[in-house]
Amino acid sequence: MSTIADNIGVVSQRIRAAAEAVQRDPDSVHLLAVSKTKPAQAVREAYAAGLRDFGENYLQEALSKQVELTDLPLSWHFIGPIQSNKTRAIAEHFAWVHSVDRLKIAQRLSEQRPAELPPLNICIQVNVSGEASKSGCTPADLPALANAISALPRLTLRGLMAIPEPTDDRAAQDAAFATVRDLQASLNLPLDTLSMGMSHDLESAIAQGATWVRIGTALFGARDYGQP
Ligand SMILES: *Cc1c(COP(=O)(O)O)cnc(C)c1O
Repeated sequence: MSTIADNIGVVSQRIRAAAEAVQRDPDSVHLLAVSKTKPAQAVREAYAAGLRDFGENYLQEALSKQVELTDLPLSWHFIGPIQSNKTRAIAEHFAWVHSVDRLKIAQRLSEQRPAELPPLNICIQVNVSGEASKSGCTPADLPALANAISALPRLTLRGLMAIPEPTDDRAAQDAAFATVRDLQASLNLPLDTLSMGMSHDLESAIAQGATWVRIGTALFGARDYGQP
């Protein structure tokens, strides 16, 4: 059985090869380890193997893991759907939020970000798969949302996030990620982040400009959502 450290080696090599294939600096692609459903011990192992950034989708799970890991200098990213009643805890306990898709949520995060913390890094989740996905703002709504969020005082709008419909067709992967990249470029804002690419499609995402790839399965193994 491969260890988490082994898996990190494999994924890092995939990132490096994908970046070099398109003449990108591999260090311009950051690895976000998606630890949802995995125990704190798995995060500890990934930390020991060099990772610092961890992504979580479920607030209560993330908060209890953070409590178990307070001894480690980790950077936490919230990447799941956000309900209004969760914004305060997210504003208090995360460095990044990748999944903002409406202004009301952004306004609450800005109002609730504690004064002693640096501004919260934000990506707008954009839906590039149409009907196939319910999360993410539409490309049509993106410019107004991006402009409004970039004016909020306690947030720093960094870029876009997308989860295209899963497919093994490389051309379809490329087309979806290129759409995200082009949408970001069309905004005319000082953005430096494209959060896109997961275990099965990181090569395509990197070819189209990803700066964060969000990797769960390839690092920690398959997730088990069943009851123990
Ligand atoms: C679960 C999840 C991932 C990781 O997906 P894998 O296919 O396991 O790499 C990435 N991004 C988001 C938003 C997720 O919910």
